[in-house]
Amino acid sequence: MCKMSLDNCNDDNDDERPKTPLEEDCCGSGCTPCIFDVHKTLLREWEECKTENNVSLHLIPGQYVMLHSWSKSRPYTPIAWTYKSLVFLVKVYEHGEFSSLLKNAPIGSGINIRGPYGDFKYERNSFRQIVMFSIGSGIAALYPVAKAIVDDETEFTRVHLVAGFRSIKHVPLKKELTHLADYWNFKCTLQLSQLNNKTISLHGFNINAGRLRKTLVADYLQSNDTETTLILICGTSQFNQSMKKWLQEMNYTHIHIFE
Ligand SMILES: Cc1cc2nc3c(=O)[nH]c(=O)nc-3n(C[C@H](O)[C@H](O)[C@H](O)COP(=O)(O)OP(=O)(O)OC[C@H]3O[C@@H](n4cnc5c(N)ncnc54)[C@H](O)[C@@H]3O)c2cc1C
Repeated sequence: MCKMSLDNCNDDNDDERPKTPLEEDCCGSGCTPCIFDVHKTLLREWEECKTENNVSLHLIPGQYVMLHSWSKSRPYTPIAWTYKSLVFLVKVYEHGEFSSLLKNAPIGSGINIRGPYGDFKYERNSFRQIVMFSIGSGIAALYPVAKAIVDDETEFTRVHLVAGFRSIKHVPLKKELTHLADYWNFKCTLQLSQLNNKTISLHGFNINAGRLRKTLVADYLQSNDTETTLILICGTSQFNQSMKKWLQEMNYTHIHIFE
């Protein structure tokens, strides 16, 4: 998987704010435009760029956008953003059309973005715990939700992210997840389907072998109160459907699937 960043403006950071000319920079010959007029115009453009970007990058964690380029479109979920950039975590498929094109796109290529989309709404402290289940690149939708909760000092909700991958080398965002695990209300379990060495350890993570099955899901939920537990799911459509079925059989009703 690759972390990719899209910047939408180069001249909007505070270091690049147009510098105010000094009095002695003016030659005093009454030029039109004068150096101060030019500065005023540059400043206005810089402010406009900042404001536009603030508005256009208003995203709720877990929302996705449509990327469009090379006459193709695909949805991707930003894992981080500022008013001028979006960061994506993209699984590159060997024969995947769009992901391969993204990987090989030269720096500076233009990509159109539409959105955001997605109907997930979360109200602060509305559940006692959130248990998140993902496989593969599905972690991209759940990570920003977990981060937003952990970053919010007024949140008392506990978050347990159970993320399935083939092996430890396929796990993205290790540094970011370790950082979240330093907080009291975040726990991360890696469920590795091809784990041979069962003694493997990685600071900040619980590591378990095997694929996610109904019995394991039940273990992870530890008979949590179904009323105060929110469950978030993101994976392949087959994974999402199996998870939904198992959870309903266990009487969980607060379930959201990112799909
Ligand atoms: C709401 C939403 C959010 C998403 N967010 C993310 C995200 O944040 N990160 C992310 O990585 N993905 C995300 N996805 C998935 C993403 O949109 C793409 O589907 C994914 O990147 C694959 O696109 P692609 O064009 O590279 O592959 P495609 O060309 O669409 O191919 C998909 C699969 O088919 C296989 N395939 C292609 N051609 C052939 C062939 N001729 N024969 C056999 N097999 C073939 C490919 O190897 C691959 O396994 C999201 C999807 C949704 C619906």
